[in-house]
Amino acid sequence: MSTAITAARVWPGRRILLVRPEETPVVPCGIPYIFGTLHGVDDDLLSSAPFRQLGGEILCDRVQHVDRETRIATLDSGTRIRWQRLVLATGTHPHQPPVPGGDRPGVFAIHKDYDVLETLFEDLLPDARRLVVVGGGFIGVEFADEVRKSGTDVAIVEQLPHLLLRNFDVEVATRVEARLREHGIQIRTGQGVTELTGTGADGAVTGVRLADGEVLPADAVLVAIGDEREVRLAHEMGLTMARGGGIWVDAFQRSREDYAIFAVGDCAFKQDLLLRRSATSLLASTAAAEGRTAGMNLFGLRNERYNAGSIAIYASQIGDLAFGCAGMTAHAARNEGFDVVVGSTEVPDHHPPTMPGTRTMTCRMVFSRSGLLLGAQVVGGPTTAEVLNAIGVAIQARLTLHDLVGFQFGSHPRLTAPAHPMALASLDALRQMSEPPSAAGPEGTGA
Ligand SMILES: Cc1cc2nc3c(=O)[nH]c(=O)nc-3n(C[C@H](O)[C@H](O)[C@H](O)COP(=O)(O)OP(=O)(O)OC[C@H]3O[C@@H](n4cnc5c(N)ncnc54)[C@H](O)[C@@H]3O)c2cc1C
Repeated sequence: MSTAITAARVWPGRRILLVRPEETPVVPCGIPYIFGTLHGVDDDLLSSAPFRQLGGEILCDRVQHVDRETRIATLDSGTRIRWQRLVLATGTHPHQPPVPGGDRPGVFAIHKDYDVLETLFEDLLPDARRLVVVGGGFIGVEFADEVRKSGTDVAIVEQLPHLLLRNFDVEVATRVEARLREHGIQIRTGQGVTELTGTGADGAVTGVRLADGEVLPADAVLVAIGDEREVRLAHEMGLTMARGGGIWVDAFQRSREDYAIFAVGDCAFKQDLLLRRSATSLLASTAAAEGRTAGMNLFGLRNERYNAGSIAIYASQIGDLAFGCAGMTAHAARNEGFDVVVGSTEVPDHHPPTMPGTRTMTCRMVFSRSGLLLGAQVVGGPTTAEVLNAIGVAIQARLTLHDLVGFQFGSHPRLTAPAHPMALASLDALRQMSEPPSAAGPEGTGA
């Protein structure tokens, strides 16, 4: 949709056709909220109106085959479409649980599909008294917290030592874990699942066996262990696949074989902005940026400032605790070999702090010792995501702490911290770098 809307705006004389099987597409990022905050799948629908208002056309069908020579796509219905530019945006499908019992009734994954979600909402989850979520990434965490709102017993199992560790440092992950526990959610970390138990060989699921032998009772199990890229069409078309996964694309999202064929979103290869290596996080933020890049450059390069890589920027909220991340965590940066300095600050997000609605915001910024901003994590109230987005711009602009400490930031008692958390955390990192090595602690103290 991001490609299609951009193309319709930038190339108004062209016919833009979007082919997708879903009559009623859902907003993927909103899916967890169907099960707690919203009132059903119908509250989470993706509007096609902005695209249609630009003259875009939508066909509810599935592309079965693409002939690169004749430039004809054949759909499930038999319809044949001649194209001049083809954009593959085929997304992902969920990983199947790689353990015995993964196909028992009551075990499910999140499909971005109206009917599947409707069945979960209407049939499976209302009857479930005990849900176990396998996978403590952001989707598992959001889903668990939303389902818990209806009183269901919920447990999360994660094989890493903490939840959310792919994108957050332990200091932030433990705060989210504490909030989930306050909400009554059980958390089992540091061990994987060995089996989904049930009645008989193929009866409904009754439990989740952990590596240490403990069995968590369950009458529903959500497997949220990541997604697999949907690249069948690309394979059949003979397009090059990237070694790190996904369809190989250049800086303008064009395939290696043919400048008329593009790939965007979860099905396309992603490069980490800072490391120039395969990036594993599949996010709407990256997908939408890639869609804009492809849409702008479909019929000729209109924008040379291309999408330079993924920074895996993302924010979420559990109760009133918002948290977000962008770029590298401190532990990932250290593993890469960076000499890391973490600047941190803890400030009220309004000033004076007696202002109604004031919350404490924690901002941790990860720098290399040369001062380059590598990543950040922010925890706080409603302004968290916007502070994080500003930091995301700074990472993409490859700014250093020397830039950030001197920048001007708008300020208002009701709307902002007394000084911008990004500047204060940068200042904390600068202070650590100025101290003799023995006096500086391993990380910023936020003082
Ligand atoms: C529960 C959940 C919550 C999420 N929350 C967030 C969030 O808060 N923030 C964030 O940044 N990211 C989030 N994500 C990730 C985000 O949803 C994905 O990165 C994004 O949807 C990728 O967009 P896409 O267009 O590449 O793929 P998809 O959204 O998967 O869309 C692919 C489309 O292609 C269609 N298709 C596939 N094959 C064919 C074919 N042969 N012919 C025609 N059509 C075909 C599919 O039916 C589908 O409509 C979430 C994901 C999930 C599952």
